Amino acid sequence: MIQRICILGSTGSIGVNTLDVADRHPDRFEVFGLTGHRRMSELAQQCARFKPKIVVVPDAKAAQDFSHHLADRSPRTEVWIGPEALVRLASAPEVDVVMAAIVGAAGLRPCMAAARAGKKLLLANKEALVVGGGLFMQAVEEGGCTLVPIDSEHSAIFQCLPEDRAAWERRIDHIVLTASGGPFRQRDPSSLGEVTPQEACAHPNWVMGQKISVDSATMMNKALEVIEARWLFNLSTDRIKVVIHPQSIIHSMVVCRDESVLAQLGTPDMRVPIAYGMFHPERLESGASRLDFMKLKALTFEEADDLRFPGLKLAYQALEAPMGACAVMNAANEEAVAAFLRRDIRFTHIHEVNRRTLEGLAGSWRTPTAIDDLLELDGQARRFAAQVVKGLAQQ
Ligand code: NAD
Ligand code: MG
Repeated sequence: MIQRICILGSTGSIGVNTLDVADRHPDRFEVFGLTGHRRMSELAQQCARFKPKIVVVPDAKAAQDFSHHLADRSPRTEVWIGPEALVRLASAPEVDVVMAAIVGAAGLRPCMAAARAGKKLLLANKEALVVGGGLFMQAVEEGGCTLVPIDSEHSAIFQCLPEDRAAWERRIDHIVLTASGGPFRQRDPSSLGEVTPQEACAHPNWVMGQKISVDSATMMNKALEVIEARWLFNLSTDRIKVVIHPQSIIHSMVVCRDESVLAQLGTPDMRVPIAYGMFHPERLESGASRLDFMKLKALTFEEADDLRFPGLKLAYQALEAPMGACAVMNAANEEAVAAFLRRDIRFTHIHEVNRRTLEGLAGSWRTPTAIDDLLELDGQARRFAAQVVKGLAQQ
């Protein structure tokens, strides 16, 4: 049966890879909706190629740009405008599968809408789950949504876990998320203040969007992934461990009660977890190259060092802090990364912004009971973080 998919954030790295997989299986997927925030010429090219019914752009100016680039190459496509249109698309009755590939908390509302509407939700947009936490998982449960993780580590764990989800608790001792260590794993920590955005975005194993590339360099990406795992697999923090594995071949592991360890391996190519999510529980061609064991020299492991990667600890602290702390940490980090990419602050300041924002706002918010409360807190944390950025930028 053909499934109708909408790809939120189709112009990004995950979005493009999703279209690549869909393109290999036209008998399985019809592209119903695409969305992009910038780069309207790329969005127009995608529309000309995949002829979606709906496209979502951020504002009237973008809509104009988009139509200019599209000319009359895809007359079927309707243009919807603004953040509310993302929500409408994610919950449209025609849509079967939603790929959540927007970056940042901006993806939270459409993800929640897809969850409440009971879609099959392929979640790459980890920040949405980090911010939404228990409220997100409640919407998944109540909406009857099938949530499949796309982040490679969480996909690995999902693939290693027994089908009978109720059996996790009894059989599993803990999980181990692998981390590549990013581009600065071996760099002298005292020189990290000098690194440029270009160096920070040059990931050794993966080609990704700028924000996640910087997060991988600071290891805030792993911090967000620890929080993501806490919610996806309902595990307490002491059962989520992190190990550095520079080759990115083992994508993560599950350690069972009997000390048997299950791991998922593959070449570092996001089309593998994307195809797994799209075809789950089946498995079909993804386009990724095969792992050649004869060419693998070694699989090595290291401990994540707190001095070089101080951000990782913040995730564990935020998970133990009152509800809302993960949303605060995420918002601070989004602001800090954007400031670093604008060259307003140094690479090492990113952690300063995150730490000071978490400390500065501690105890100042009411327990969030709805997504609106979390988004309000997100705004409050962004304003606080922007002040910290300002102070650091003047140094
Ligand atoms: P990207 O920057 O390449 O793409 C982001 C997409 O979101 C683009 O289409 C952009 O137009 C859209 N977007 C940006 N801001 C928006 C806004 N305010 N409103 C609506 N749309 C907006 O990012 P990416 O690397 O594809 O990552 C997307 C998500 O997937 C992130 O949450 C990331 O952490 C996660 N992820 C990515 C990878 C990877 O390999 N790239 C791996 C694992 C998880
Ligand atoms: Mg990951």
